[in-house]
Amino acid sequence: MADRPPNILICSCEDTMPLDDSAVRRGCRGAEVATAHQLCRAELEKFRAAAAGGEPLIVGCTQEAPLFSEVAGSADITYANIRETAGWSKDANAAGPKMAALLAAAAEPAPEVPFVNLNSEGVILIYGRDEQAIEAGNLLKDYLDVTVMITPPAEVAPPRVTDFPVVKGLIRAAKGYLGAFELTVDGYAQPAPSSRGALSFAAPRDGAVSRCDLVLDISGGAPLFTASDLRDGYLRADPARRRSRCDRCICLRGLRTVRGGLSHWRRRLRAAASGCAAAQAARAAHRLSRCRRARAAHRAGP
Ligand code: SF4
Repeated sequence: MADRPPNILICSCEDTMPLDDSAVRRGCRGAEVATAHQLCRAELEKFRAAAAGGEPLIVGCTQEAPLFSEVAGSADITYANIRETAGWSKDANAAGPKMAALLAAAAEPAPEVPFVNLNSEGVILIYGRDEQAIEAGNLLKDYLDVTVMITPPAEVAPPRVTDFPVVKGLIRAAKGYLGAFELTVDGYAQPAPSSRGALSFAAPRDGAVSRCDLVLDISGGAPLFTASDLRDGYLRADPARRRSRCDRCICLRGLRTVRGGLSHWRRRLRAAASGCAAAQAARAAHRLSRCRRARAAHRAGP
């Protein structure tokens, strides 16, 4: 527990759970423990008086934390859930020590949480095995700075208009995260502008490095990352399923320019990936603003 024992207020939630206040006293040495029956309503004055005392206070209820915080103003209040996690369990009669542990844990100062800032300028590498990658590039080119990389032998027809680079290469290694991916590519080659019938590539070279903000992997190969579904900014789609590819493209449109903290963009990615409502909203906003910055050159690509 923290240096100074806090005051503790626990509530039986209208007698729907037993309170073993002596177990709580034993587990939270030195703390003043008081009990209540309906702290958030009939006994709100009891809470108000405890909060006004100036001592750190732990309240054994999280459901009504917003109400308590509003009533307490700037008082030092911490909340612990002893109801769903202990008192409402089938072992409620023996849950006193667990309640004490939960309350004691709440008294511990929380460790510093490291933040990782993610920035994306919307540079995407689409990694595929055939024309599907180019099709995905066409879906995304108005929203993101696209580069398409096709695995060897990359036998694809030349695009009629070069809206985005199409290169050949095999990703040997990948590292990074949303906004800072770094890919090591073997067999990297650019196509000749005179390609006719099928893209013809210059001599390949190994060990080329490509940097980008987002990766759409529709190569059908092994994931580029372990736990790939947890890697923000890296999306995979089954190349055999057109719907899956299109869904991913719609989601990625909402990530054209990304600035924010890790948790924010995790939420955004998940929201986009489940139903794509967020992506559609983002797309609408993008269409309204049409502020795509002119960029002299793609940052992706070796
Ligand atoms: S919601 Fe919380 S404060 Fe209100 S009666 Fe239940 S346990 Fe007590």
